[in-house]
Amino acid sequence: MKSPTQTNAIDFDSAKLQRLGFGQPALRPRRPVTFNELRQQLGQQLQTSLEPERILGLFFREVQRLVPLDALHYRHEPSDLRLEFGHRGHHSVSYTLSHEGEHLGELIFRRNQRLMDDELSQLEALLASLLYPMRNALLYRTATRSALRDPLTETGNRIAMDQTLQREIDMARRHLSPLSLLMLDIDHFKNINDTHGHAAGDKVLRAVAGSIKSQLRNVDMVFRFGGEEFLILLSNTGRDAAGMVGERLRRAAHAQDYWADDTKIELTVSLGCSTLLAAESAESLLRRADNALYVAKREGRNRLAMAG
Ligand code: GH3
Ligand code: MG
Ligand code: MG
Repeated sequence: MKSPTQTNAIDFDSAKLQRLGFGQPALRPRRPVTFNELRQQLGQQLQTSLEPERILGLFFREVQRLVPLDALHYRHEPSDLRLEFGHRGHHSVSYTLSHEGEHLGELIFRRNQRLMDDELSQLEALLASLLYPMRNALLYRTATRSALRDPLTETGNRIAMDQTLQREIDMARRHLSPLSLLMLDIDHFKNINDTHGHAAGDKVLRAVAGSIKSQLRNVDMVFRFGGEEFLILLSNTGRDAAGMVGERLRRAAHAQDYWADDTKIELTVSLGCSTLLAAESAESLLRRADNALYVAKREGRNRLAMAG
């Protein structure tokens, strides 16, 4: 029998589990259990977390007290989630998790040695213990993610921006890497609303957001900052490179066609760019980008201005 050493590396909510009497020293070999013992134990343990990674890590670890495995892969496309535990194994068997017609992801078990029929039926029966914990974890994930997104433009909202900006500033400091910020504002957007109505304005907002995202590698760094204003965070990007990205965004937004009913709308954007200074606060970095944007507007719009 293969000893499941790789499982010792899996982290789980040990404090909570210890309170519930599940504490285990990491290196002690796991005692084998009967199927019924394991099923009962999983039923209690797995519902102690709302993190897919913890739930599946725990499942992978505990299931091996009955059925040794080399790897477990999990995939749930709708929430863009891919997790891998353990290493590769020659043989694999895959299952689709679903609950009342709701797709909860695909699981692949891998092992170098072929899985026997009785092992497979035990695994299948134990999969049921994942249903409610995984459903709850995926729901929780959807809820927390949507709390951070602007539904109209599908960019990050202000809460996400505040969190990400602070995180990126801390990271830039730690790694002594540059960080730049672009503030982008649609020119004369009020005219579009006034002439074509709010619905047309909304459509244009979505199209501009789409144009920005299509030009960037990391779409998680685009935020809706205000009504028709977007903020783009450029990690590991100094002043000159940020200026080039800003110019590319400006041209792309202008090149795109915008339609309200059958009328083509001419649209331009203005941008302000700032680059993090030593010991600068998030607030100051934002203010300097905003001031640069104001300069771009004053100098005639459809342009990029660099913060001094
Ligand atoms: P400037 O070139 O100086 O930026 O002029 P502007 O007209 O773009 O700027 P202003 O700030 O005067 O107007 C912004 C408008 O954006 C006013 C507001 O009604 C509109 N707006 C804000 N949020 C939304 C939204 O979610 N949907 C729509 N359709 N319009 C919005
Ligand atoms: Mg505007
Ligand atoms: Mg504005």
